[in-house]
Amino acid sequence: MAFGEGCGGISSPEASSGRYDLLVSGGRVVDPSQGLSGPCDVAITGHSIARVAAAIPRAESRRVLDASGKIVTPGLIDVHVHVYDGVAPLGIPADPHCIAKGVTTVLDAGSAGAHTFPAFRRQIPLSDTRIFALLNISVIGQASMTPETPYGELLDLRYADPRVAIRTIEEHRDLILGIKIRLSREIAGENDLKALAIARAAADAVKLPLMIHIGDTHTPLRDLLAMLGRGDVVTHTFHGREGGILDGDGRIVPEIRAAVARGVHLDVGHGRGSFSFDVAEKALRQELLPGTISSDVHRFNVDGPVFDLATTLSKFLHLGLSLDQVIARASTHAAGAFGFPRGLGTLREGAEADVAVWSLAEGDFEFVDALREKRIGHRKLVPVATVKAGRVWGRK
Ligand SMILES: [Zn+2]
Repeated sequence: MAFGEGCGGISSPEASSGRYDLLVSGGRVVDPSQGLSGPCDVAITGHSIARVAAAIPRAESRRVLDASGKIVTPGLIDVHVHVYDGVAPLGIPADPHCIAKGVTTVLDAGSAGAHTFPAFRRQIPLSDTRIFALLNISVIGQASMTPETPYGELLDLRYADPRVAIRTIEEHRDLILGIKIRLSREIAGENDLKALAIARAAADAVKLPLMIHIGDTHTPLRDLLAMLGRGDVVTHTFHGREGGILDGDGRIVPEIRAAVARGVHLDVGHGRGSFSFDVAEKALRQELLPGTISSDVHRFNVDGPVFDLATTLSKFLHLGLSLDQVIARASTHAAGAFGFPRGLGTLREGAEADVAVWSLAEGDFEFVDALREKRIGHRKLVPVATVKAGRVWGRK
């Protein structure tokens, strides 16, 4: 885009030294919430965005973060991670994998159930990453399952109790933004539809969205989708297992189109076993785009093939989405999909001053999906610096 496009032109000359606390200067701002994509500076006062404009004089700020040649976005939101470290075996510490990688806000997708959520609540403030959660409909959350003990939380349906889930959500509404249910055979066996009915009832009772994990389910996908309505979320949309979004001819099944038409939201949730380049390529060719791009980063994929949200976003750059499109799906769209506090995922004036700085590396990069299929991409988002609530993370 042309210089200063959408950024309010040249900064006014009324300089008073030090009026801002921090200036992210010289970068290309990509903020889909305001339609910004061009050279721009971001000025911060306290924990809020004070101003976004072209060429704000550096002398107006007490500190400057030089973003010359870099991409500047809102601090990103990853709506599918597992950061209940030490209790859910797949949990990882949030900070090294989230805020250190440009992700200031995450949604833990069901690591905790009602019985394990209270201790998660005590753990959350120990991270700098801003953590919210979806409550697993099973009271044990994801505490049971590892590659060595592959016995999921819904094999015994008695662990899915709507009363306990509802009570826990009512007690922790500031942190719990919805309900999560995992429906694959190794997790729910033949209980998937009954468990989903329980989760549906609980979600309706508390008026929060329901996120369902699909892939290799006992019940056909169409019958699971029929239980979802406006605001609910399907994660692992582009998985390559049985029960996917494509028919035998590689065409999007009509029930997916119908679900999207009634307001069901499609999330990526790459994960260890849940993202196929082949499925995503076929879906994108048929103009089925994800609403949100999330990583599902956890212990069993953080060393590959997922690594972090930036790598998942880079895979979608390779698949043909624009930079603005991928950033939107990890900022504006993510903020809109769940009831996060206002002012996240945006650089609007007055918003929380969460900012991520990236380099957009060019070269030949090998990307691997959950089926170990490889693609060579030519652009890669590399995290450079993160600002959360006005403070540069990791710097004194
Ligand atoms: Zn997950």
